[in-house]
Amino acid sequence: MIDILTFMLSLGVGNVTFALLMAGYMRGATPSPSLTVWIWARLFSGLAQVCCWLAPQFGFPLAGKLASFASVVGVALELAAYCLFFGFAHWRRFLYPASVAGMAVVTLALLAGATTEQMVCVVAMIVALFAAGAAAVLLRPQKGASLLQRIIGANDALFALAIWATMGVTRGNVAALGASSLVGFAYMASYLLMIVNGFGFLLMCKQQDDANMQRLATVDCLTGALNRRAFFERAESARMLALRLRKPVALVMLDLDHFKRLNDSFGHACGDQALRMFADTAGAVLRDHDLIGRLGGEEFALALPGTTLDGAFQAAERLRLAVAAAPLPGCSGDYRVTVSIGLVLIEPNEELTAALARADHALYAAKSGGRNRVEVGAAILKCA
Ligand code: GH3
Ligand code: MG
Ligand code: MG
Repeated sequence: MIDILTFMLSLGVGNVTFALLMAGYMRGATPSPSLTVWIWARLFSGLAQVCCWLAPQFGFPLAGKLASFASVVGVALELAAYCLFFGFAHWRRFLYPASVAGMAVVTLALLAGATTEQMVCVVAMIVALFAAGAAAVLLRPQKGASLLQRIIGANDALFALAIWATMGVTRGNVAALGASSLVGFAYMASYLLMIVNGFGFLLMCKQQDDANMQRLATVDCLTGALNRRAFFERAESARMLALRLRKPVALVMLDLDHFKRLNDSFGHACGDQALRMFADTAGAVLRDHDLIGRLGGEEFALALPGTTLDGAFQAAERLRLAVAAAPLPGCSGDYRVTVSIGLVLIEPNEELTAALARADHALYAAKSGGRNRVEVGAAILKCA
């Protein structure tokens, strides 16, 4: 089996290379606090491992002490990077004292004249504790967590277990184990920690960036509703699926009433608030799989898969009443926005744009009929 010093040197070189690679990747890109902290974590861990190799090699005892502190800083920074990545609010309250406590234990052990063997045990236990913390963060119950995140979490847990198992079996006397299979397991876990966590974190950042880009490309940033292009794409998919399953799809066009007057009377900020209120209300009143799109200005559209004309009429009425009852705190205490609604059922083999035109026609009827009302569009005339 590879000797511990060569192993430490390869880990150190690996970690420093990761840090350099990431620094190169970050150059010119939008700064990411979690990735920056991660780079420092890799550097400190790499520095610690290179120091472990240096100390006995060149009779350089200070390097051994430096390695102990750098290991704790490295693993604490790694945990900080996860906390930043997931946007935890109060992580500093826990991680700062935990890091100070870790450093204090290392300092006390050094002051008490601990041997190199004992220092290895102390540092390994602290590193394993932080790795277990990282595993808890990555494996916590969380809706929509990626498989990648779970793999990195499992890897951290495996590493912590390998360290504890080694310490437990040797009762602190690591040298007594020699080249046993347990030491091999601990080697492997440390190596995996570098490779899986190094690549894994980069991939997790990429996954997050991709999701953000996807959101920017499909969601209207003011209201959070789908933008025009995304609405048409998804409504078309819903129409095709419904056609195959022989299920109905209702299509609804909505336009806020006298919106220009609201803007002119209370300002654009108030108009924007009304648009957000409308989208929030629609999100709350409709079902999860219903599609809400902002087609432009104060015009919205809904696609309601699996909904009959009666069901769509009830949903539209519910939405109309909820909008008319919703206050606009930033504008005027008693001002209420209303919405006019036109709806149709997409007929089999009818194009989406044709159905939208019918719904728009019904919306026009709702406007001319006095606004704040729902109108059902006429069915397509069939040739005899
Ligand atoms: P109607 O009841 O007939 O629908 O009248 P309206 O005033 O709602 O319709 P009109 O089309 O005359 O006015 C739409 C207004 O919406 C004009 C435009 O300035 C405003 N608008 C469009 N986009 C935005 C936006 O993003 N924010 C705000 N605050 N206003 C917007
Ligand atoms: Mg309007
Ligand atoms: Mg309009």
